[in-house]
Amino acid sequence: MDKVMLRCLVSRCLLTNPVAGSLAGSQSSLAGKVAIVTASTDGIGLAAAQALGQRGAHVVVSSRRQSNVDKAVALLQREKIQVTGTTCNVGNSEDRARLVNMTVEQCGGVDIFVSNAAVNPFFGNIMDSTEAVWDKILDVNVKSAFLMTQLVVPHLEKRGGGSVVFVSSVAGYQPMQALGPYSVSKTALLGLTRALAPELAQSHIRVNCVAPGIIKTTFSQALWQDEDVVDELKKQLSIKRFGKPEEIGGVIAFLCSKDASYITGETITVTGGMSCRL
Ligand code: NAP
Repeated sequence: MDKVMLRCLVSRCLLTNPVAGSLAGSQSSLAGKVAIVTASTDGIGLAAAQALGQRGAHVVVSSRRQSNVDKAVALLQREKIQVTGTTCNVGNSEDRARLVNMTVEQCGGVDIFVSNAAVNPFFGNIMDSTEAVWDKILDVNVKSAFLMTQLVVPHLEKRGGGSVVFVSSVAGYQPMQALGPYSVSKTALLGLTRALAPELAQSHIRVNCVAPGIIKTTFSQALWQDEDVVDELKKQLSIKRFGKPEEIGGVIAFLCSKDASYITGETITVTGGMSCRL
């Protein structure tokens, strides 16, 4: 790409994204970057897309349902964020490949991958969980996170490096009651972060993880809709409220920025002070 074209592209990005314009040149700017965020039509994934987009990245949003993708794309466009949307069930290998190929074809490459998708089809004693439950949880929450990373890494390498962020959970450190298999899957992401970071550092790819506490989204509604559960959980918090999706989105964007250029293999807990580790 010649210099004139490059200047045009950069100024177009700054013009269409006033927030990114004010960050231009700062360590937190993501201008010119392309970011794939899975499960990004609601909750934490959508907030991550917003935070990355506000810092100038072109974000690629996806989830299983086209209607949700359409809503998220419209919302981000209203916020002047550069966005592309498609459906992708991360548990499906064809969908995963299509998401990555479409991003490369339409956006020219990939710099950032945020693996946010997770399911929890089971509440109860871990001893009552079935093989089907384990297959589903491990397929979506762990295997797809790795398999997506494996698909994305060659494209990050083509750009000379990049950033991968996994979304784990406080439950990955301290299993939550009735959420045994889900908690174990989130512990696996802490291990995946540690396993990938040294291997990918040589390609200038940083691999980090965020472990949210209780964030008010549809996914966690069983925890915040019942007043007795809320009272019990709040006893464990220093900041006496549940988190907001944007409080995770900002941390994810930080991890993908130059501000975090010396951080890899790390998990940041964002829990309002819920104690889960030293
Ligand atoms: P959420 O608000 O309920 O949003 C879930 C998103 O995932 C939706 O966009 C949904 O859209 C999409 N989705 C669901 N299954 C998918 C699949 N198989 N493939 C692709 N997209 C899928 O959930 P959230 O609370 O933001 O949770 C996001 C992540 O944060 C998860 O990894 C979760 O474990 C983690 N987390 C959440 C909390 C919390 O308190 N909320 C705490 C710790 C960790 P469609 O229905 O259209 O697919």
